[in-house]
Amino acid sequence: MTQPPRLRLAMQKSGRLSDPSRRLLERSGIELQSGGQRLSASATNFPLDVMLVRDDDIPRFVAQGVCDLGIVGQNVLLETIDPAGPAAQKPQVVRKLGFGNCRLALAVPVAAAYEGVGWFRGRRIATSYPRCLEQYLAKNEVSATVVEISGAVEGAPVLGVADAVCDLVATGSTLRANGLREVETVLTSEAVLIQGDRALPAATQVYLQQLLERFDGVMKAARSKYIMMNAPAEAVDLITSLVPGMEEPTIVPLHGKSGRVALHAVAGENVFWETMHKLKAAGASSILVVDIEKIIA
Ligand code: ATP
Ligand code: ZN
Repeated sequence: MTQPPRLRLAMQKSGRLSDPSRRLLERSGIELQSGGQRLSASATNFPLDVMLVRDDDIPRFVAQGVCDLGIVGQNVLLETIDPAGPAAQKPQVVRKLGFGNCRLALAVPVAAAYEGVGWFRGRRIATSYPRCLEQYLAKNEVSATVVEISGAVEGAPVLGVADAVCDLVATGSTLRANGLREVETVLTSEAVLIQGDRALPAATQVYLQQLLERFDGVMKAARSKYIMMNAPAEAVDLITSLVPGMEEPTIVPLHGKSGRVALHAVAGENVFWETMHKLKAAGASSILVVDIEKIIA
């Protein structure tokens, strides 16, 4: 008997994207059971198998059809896939996933008299992202020596291996700790879901649509809040305009309080304290803001 088709997803085995990738599946209601040597996992309640690999291998595995989907940083996707290569070997971005945010940045020693990107002319720049860096240098008409290093790039200037670095940055604290100053952004990146170029069998395509619907629901829920408050009936329009991304509110009369109503709505964005103050000033009281677990529109 042939096995029913399953979706195959590659994600990072251990690293910065591993926990958020697992959390996304978990919040999508997908339970994983580890396979042998923790190199793979199978969902017990969804037709999905997960390959756990180094992030650098993910774009190629997806391009080669070893798996149907992958979760990887845009930086790795851009670095691994040759923009001049055949279209069939370029995985497509299906969703931005909203985690793993970082930037690939150029940084120079704090003491350097940096006056603009021309500073890099004729200098040595250490990086693990030679393709992205070379594209950036070419675009800016700067000719420099790219020194490829596979890790701990930030130490290169102290070791005398390079004059500057081009490295991933989230907060900038690693650069600062190494006496470096961020001066240019080469690219900004977040984790993305990628898909190969080849068509999926019809049944698997249906599972992919369901998976995307769940991912969208999780991401929308993470951005959204459910907001409830009591308010003067005549302030409903004002209040609706004050809450960012608020959909049509449900208005319920309050028993024994003529002129005041209860207002319930989904807010498409986080509700910050500034908004709460404005709502109070508009006459709202008992304002509750609640996290949402799942949404399907
Ligand atoms: P692997 O062993 O899988 O090759 P790695 O060491 O290459 O792992 P990580 O350091 O785990 O990779 O980073 C994975 C991805 O996380 C990066 O490619 C990038 O997209 C993202 N990321 C987010 N913030 C940062 C950061 N501050 N520094 C580095 N990467 C970050
Ligand atoms: Zn890697």
